[in-house]
Amino acid sequence: MKLIVLLGAPGSGKGTVAARLVKRFKVCHVSSGDLLRAAVKQADTPASRTAMAAMREGALVADEVVGALVIERLERCAPAAVILLDGYPRNEHQAANLAVEVARAGAKVAAAVWLEVPEAILIRRLAGRRICGKCAAGYHIENMKPKVDGICDSCGSALIQREDDLPGRIANRLVVYKQQTAALIDWYESRGLLVRIDGSDDADAVVERVAQTVIA
Ligand code: ADP
Repeated sequence: MKLIVLLGAPGSGKGTVAARLVKRFKVCHVSSGDLLRAAVKQADTPASRTAMAAMREGALVADEVVGALVIERLERCAPAAVILLDGYPRNEHQAANLAVEVARAGAKVAAAVWLEVPEAILIRRLAGRRICGKCAAGYHIENMKPKVDGICDSCGSALIQREDDLPGRIANRLVVYKQQTAALIDWYESRGLLVRIDGSDDADAVVERVAQTVIA
């Protein structure tokens, strides 16, 4: 397995880039956010309600909960696949846990790609983001419009705005990112694994850069 961690603030394009790379290469996309959203939809338990509340506010879900979902999903990627891990790790504890778990499988993180995007662009992207309520495909009201307004190109379902994309919550997610996740840039750099990519251009250009740098 070639494990590539995608680092970057909310709105930096991790999910968009990964979804486009999946169409071009044999890659396995593992998104902690998608896993969590699917898990809380499936089960109505005290643990899932706690996770849902954290996600709505843009706070982090407990490390053990996310870690278990991500590791279980990684095990289901084909052994030889390139894996794009998006949204995990989000703090140093998770990064250390990931290193231990992949070592157990005889592998290691091959690179950590940091999609670097200025904050003003992040806010515009998050506020205009819409996702398909059914298949979770991502759109933007200005620069990644669906063919028919409000309808998913892939599955024809209605597009929705994520609750954590509302203005007050975007601000909170950016604070959480700065406080907990941004430190991972140094964490991976000090291990010689960091690859910086300018993520501020349109999605096609960023996808090309990531593909040429770490996949092709
Ligand atoms: P974004 O990166 O755009 O903020 P995600 O879809 O990756 O969105 O994550 C949505 C929410 O899911 C986060 O705000 C957080 O509550 C939760 N989450 C996702 N990944 C993790 C993680 N690794 N650790 C803790 N919480 C997480």
